[in-house]
Amino acid sequence: MKEMMDYLIGEAEAWVVHEHNHLWDTGKPLAQNDIIPLEKFFNSNTLDQVRIVYVDQIENPPFIKGLLDKGITLSLNFNQVTAITFINTVVIASPKLKQEIWLPLLFHECVHVVQYQLLGTRRFMELYIYGWLSQGMDYYKIPLEVDAANLHKRFEAHPDNFFSAEREVMEQLKNHTYA
Ligand SMILES: [Zn+2]
Repeated sequence: MKEMMDYLIGEAEAWVVHEHNHLWDTGKPLAQNDIIPLEKFFNSNTLDQVRIVYVDQIENPPFIKGLLDKGITLSLNFNQVTAITFINTVVIASPKLKQEIWLPLLFHECVHVVQYQLLGTRRFMELYIYGWLSQGMDYYKIPLEVDAANLHKRFEAHPDNFFSAEREVMEQLKNHTYA
């Protein structure tokens, strides 16, 4: 388990860095219409660094194939995902957007940007993958996802009750441990 986790964390980190480096330049900064509601919750240096990249479908990471070759099957299919954040590059599958509410989705991804910022990419991947494996590979139970969902739901329910997302994430992260 430990060996497979280390392998997965290393591969995932390399993938995230690669995707970010490859895509950030091609992305669009947040639109002014999106910045106005979000800047009540996020620091401007968080929002300024975000880039949005639209794709038809989010591709599965190449290391999945390596795992299959090792006989490990993971219940993971990014093709079904609407959005994914690589450090501060938010990739969005446009055909899936209709089913989602735009601002809460964007809010959610910006929370991930803050998590990456506070944790660093390596630590983010450690917590994410450890959380995923220890929750029976249930994506919705990954603590970093639960945290992001809690904050975007709070925003969705009360878009005028401002709070500092950076401060909330800092508090949430105190509850997570993985040596
Ligand atoms: Zn998420």
